Amino acid sequence: MNIESRLAQIGSIKEPKTGAVSFPIYNSTAFRHPKLGESTGFDYSRTKNPTRSVLEEAAAELESGDAAFACSTGMAALQVVFSMFSQGDHLIVSLDLYGGTYRLLERIMSRFGVTASYVDTNDIDAIGELVTPSTKAILIETPTNPLMMITDIERVSAWAKSKGLLTIVDNTLLTPFFQRPLELGADIVVHSATKYLGGHNDVLAGLIVTKGQELSEQIGFLHNSIGAVLGAQDSWLLMRGMKTLALRMERHQYNATKIAEYLLEHESIEEVYYPALPQHPGHEVQNRQSSGNTGIFSFKVKDARYIEPILRNIKLIAFAESLGGVESLMTYPAVQTHADIPLEIRQKIGVDERLLRFSVGIEHVDDLIADLSQALDAAKREIEEA
Ligand SMILES: *Cc1c(COP(=O)(O)O)cnc(C)c1O
Repeated sequence: MNIESRLAQIGSIKEPKTGAVSFPIYNSTAFRHPKLGESTGFDYSRTKNPTRSVLEEAAAELESGDAAFACSTGMAALQVVFSMFSQGDHLIVSLDLYGGTYRLLERIMSRFGVTASYVDTNDIDAIGELVTPSTKAILIETPTNPLMMITDIERVSAWAKSKGLLTIVDNTLLTPFFQRPLELGADIVVHSATKYLGGHNDVLAGLIVTKGQELSEQIGFLHNSIGAVLGAQDSWLLMRGMKTLALRMERHQYNATKIAEYLLEHESIEEVYYPALPQHPGHEVQNRQSSGNTGIFSFKVKDARYIEPILRNIKLIAFAESLGGVESLMTYPAVQTHADIPLEIRQKIGVDERLLRFSVGIEHVDDLIADLSQALDAAKREIEEA
């Protein structure tokens, strides 16, 4: 069945007793045992909850994995995955990385003796130079956020496999609707489901999807032992959001492409970073491994003095952190999402004081362009008058 149909039908045929089309929210944390040594399959909701299970089965199937685990946030999902590693283990990680992931590795995992090296994960020679006997895994974001760098998942995971390393992909920006890393050879997919999967800026959630029985059991053990699980209410809210994922991603992509093309021609804009544009260095790989493009991109204004008035003058577009929701949000990575990344790394990759990130919502594209246009005009006027 096509993915659009599978998304729309999440949970709808799983409740035979009443035939409920929307799967019920089981708030119960405890489940009665029929007798000693028997279980309905549910004992205690940290281990397994009926509503969360429906979500997890859907996520595993959508990502072509063997098992999925719903977590309280994307960071919780990453923490559970990182808990596979032991003191002395080493990871290789995308250089242009989500700030929270960098913080978790550098401020917390490092205290437990798990270290990380940061590199352009599309550069296999550079990765090779960093591999030591302690290296256990490669963590990839593709596209990266905010600079939209693309990694060839198939090529890197094949290489990682040949070296005995696991490949972990943070698939938050594309979702299984556009990209399925496990089909390309990755071992583990993680999501901040807070973003496109939830889609409405109203639920925090994370997902882990695993390939292979051993890995699935290992992550399942950690998920239950750590307890960073998603509650029943939020599991339901996430499934509700996921039912419209296909429609939303199509519109996010359409709007983002139109706006990126508009900005590319704008006199105040120096550069637009969006893999859907043919001049983007990752364009070809992106087209090969994904069936579409995310709804976020970044752009660089010609003069840093534009930033403050742009953010003050946008009206329809909100100046806010986060991404992937139906509402358009604009972020200033250097002081917001990426503030925890050292200046030296930020400068190396180009997250500087002229960069803005735009999470394009599903509003009418003309209204979004009109809002950007008036904000850019207002910024230009203010600078000229100053
Ligand atoms: C937001 C985000 C995370 C963290 O997820 P939360 O749900 O905010 O904890 C991880 N990775 C990426 C790429 C993200 O955008």
